[in-house]
Amino acid sequence: MKDEKDFPVTKSDTEWQASLTPTEYAVLRQHGTEPRGSSPLNKEKRSGEFLCAGCGQPLFDAGTKYESGTGWPSFYAPREGSVETTTDRSHSMTRTEVHCSRCGGHLGHVFNDGPKPTGLRYCMNGAALSFKPEE
Ligand SMILES: [Zn+2]
Repeated sequence: MKDEKDFPVTKSDTEWQASLTPTEYAVLRQHGTEPRGSSPLNKEKRSGEFLCAGCGQPLFDAGTKYESGTGWPSFYAPREGSVETTTDRSHSMTRTEVHCSRCGGHLGHVFNDGPKPTGLRYCMNGAALSFKPEE
């Protein structure tokens, strides 16, 4: 799948492969999904922020993370303007795909069964995120 949109951060496929781990590359650049429960970020409970593993843009504050029980890091709200969505019709399902607004990296999907105040569940791949604890 080729994304024609221009993002502020763009790299060639070869450059992405060189700068990301194989798991990060599979998720961010090839719309992969990490195995349920595989990310150490599932258990991350400290204050801080979650950044895009591709370009370092802050995406989620730790205060919006919650335990969804799905096995993927889940949040109810992104930082304003940090993510964009597209309609994903792969795997015979219609889902809303979520990607970083800065580099276009695939992060996960958003669903309508989240907690208040937004009612949204941003189901993210931990491999697409890096955690920066509050100092
Ligand atoms: Zn990014």
